[in-house]
Amino acid sequence: MDISVVIPLFNEEESLPELTEWIERVMNSNGYTYEIIFVNDGSTDRSMDVIKSLASKNPNIHAVSFSRNYGKSPALNTGFRKAKGDVVITMDADLQDSPDEIPELYRMITSDGYDLVSGWKKKRYDPLSKTLPTKLFNATARKVSGIKNLHDFNCGLKAYRKDVVKRIEVYGDMHRYIPYLAKNAGYKKIGEKVVHHQARKYGVTKFGLDRFVNGYLDLATLWFQSKFGIKPMHIFGLLGSLMFMIGFLAVVTVLVMKLVSMNSETYHFYITKSVYFYLSLAFMVLGVQFFCTGFIGEMITRNSPERNSYLISEEF
Ligand code: UDP
Ligand code: MG
Repeated sequence: MDISVVIPLFNEEESLPELTEWIERVMNSNGYTYEIIFVNDGSTDRSMDVIKSLASKNPNIHAVSFSRNYGKSPALNTGFRKAKGDVVITMDADLQDSPDEIPELYRMITSDGYDLVSGWKKKRYDPLSKTLPTKLFNATARKVSGIKNLHDFNCGLKAYRKDVVKRIEVYGDMHRYIPYLAKNAGYKKIGEKVVHHQARKYGVTKFGLDRFVNGYLDLATLWFQSKFGIKPMHIFGLLGSLMFMIGFLAVVTVLVMKLVSMNSETYHFYITKSVYFYLSLAFMVLGVQFFCTGFIGEMITRNSPERNSYLISEEF
């Protein structure tokens, strides 16, 4: 099979027939063998009925339906597990991404040898409240991830070589950083293609302003994971040891000063009035805490099997 199109959706009943028809048209005119995988992320509208009726007319249409709204990342991850095509293309269900981009994306993966090609909505049709923070977001993501050639990390339209999606795990809200996930998994050839973008035709956006707060926290997590995820002790152990050493030096200082003052007639030293006493307390406690956090981190990195198990209500 040439192409799997993975489409996460949450309450997009109006867009689905038009989107499906458009994808079918592109696939047929280019002669691709394909499948469309709809991942219904707990829609409360008639989306699932619409998908069922579309699937009854086209055997290439498949669906997974979550029993509740888990989020775009779990939806993508589930679609990735199911995908069988050599090239996997993700797109949003709201008709903001154009299926006409599929042939060129496919070519870039199969002929140009890219592992991942991300769409770039160079000209966006979204409100300013969204486009402006997005610029800042992308600049930060470029800096932290070291993927300097990407302008638009969070574009829903992306193409992947099959083994990329099988290797990465998209969880939480990490769909904003899939190129970074791919890079951390060892895929280096990450490219970009300018894509056409349209204003949302039906329905409303499913993400609010909290996306920016959460986005930065996720970036911090990913940065930490890529640096110390495998060896948390390397950061916590270092910090812990440094702090413990400072604390220990402070204890020695306090003891020496006390001993000196005990043998002196004129010099009076009160332990609880010394700054070193408080330094020793704080730093030794902090040091031990960092060290223990490191050990716990080491154990956690070895045990996280539940991160991607979802309650699936139906699948076909
Ligand atoms: N989406 C989803 N689960 C969610 C939120 C969104 O599957 O919890 C889907 C949504 O239906 C759409 C895509 O993710 O297909 C992108 O969402 P949206 O268009 O609302 O994001 P925006 O374009 O405003 O960034
Ligand atoms: Mg959209």
